[in-house]
Amino acid sequence: MDKNHEKFRKWLEIAKKTRRNSPLTFSRIPTDDYLKAEVRLGAEDYWLYFGKETASDCQKTDEPNVWIQINDNDTISIGLAFNANNSVNKAENILRGYARGVKEQLFKHFKGESGWWAVIQIRQKFHNFSESPIYEERKRVPINELNEDKVEELFSDAKNIIKEYSERTKLPLDDPKYLCVGGGASFNLLEKEIPATEQAFEEAFAFAHDSLLICLKVKTPAEHNREQNKRYTALKCKEKTCSHKCYDPKNYDKPYCDFDGGSLEKVQLTKDEWINEFGYPPNDSK
Ligand SMILES: [Zn+2]
Repeated sequence: MDKNHEKFRKWLEIAKKTRRNSPLTFSRIPTDDYLKAEVRLGAEDYWLYFGKETASDCQKTDEPNVWIQINDNDTISIGLAFNANNSVNKAENILRGYARGVKEQLFKHFKGESGWWAVIQIRQKFHNFSESPIYEERKRVPINELNEDKVEELFSDAKNIIKEYSERTKLPLDDPKYLCVGGGASFNLLEKEIPATEQAFEEAFAFAHDSLLICLKVKTPAEHNREQNKRYTALKCKEKTCSHKCYDPKNYDKPYCDFDGGSLEKVQLTKDEWINEFGYPPNDSK
């Protein structure tokens, strides 16, 4: 293990301890997915990420993650990033879209916290897809000032950045403004520089970690639609006058209706129809 890996070890241990002691209120999320720490070699420095286990590449994943950077001047930068263009959409959903409850929870969590910023950046790759991106800051708002107007500003900016990025990828290769694919917008919902002390780190990590748990309860529009479009197979009695109608195939294996002996056919129900019919959600939905 080289020196740079070693210098993260201390903070990783504190992070693990802090999470154990922090009052996690969102226990429905399997906590073992977190703190699957990954040390990545960035362009100039090492970063440490905390996110879902499936987020094998933190720069491309649609999931938000918490990151830590150790700076030279005895400070640590810590943040909660929505790094890929799709995950910026996810952040937008949190702050203005589908998940009103999550947004309120998050704003409540942010209330009274000082020193944290929400930051929109453009993520640029100048030569090839595999190079580490260079980030350029475009807009910064203190999180305790976030309101509908500020959120509107941040995300109209993010949309402009994605548009600008897409136009710059079409420029001739020798144009100084040319960008290659793999860039776009990046959003840090949280960002703060703290002194590299145990106490400051513990506090900042617990805050970022709990914010991440709140954010991970949110679906992208695509995930939301996929769930809406999903169908579940039930067994339906063919007798038009039957008042029993549907059976759950998981706990009914007879080929006929118990109520009137009618034969059964397979029907496809939406999640809502299933819940209406049976009073409980279909097996594979959360
Ligand atoms: Zn029947």
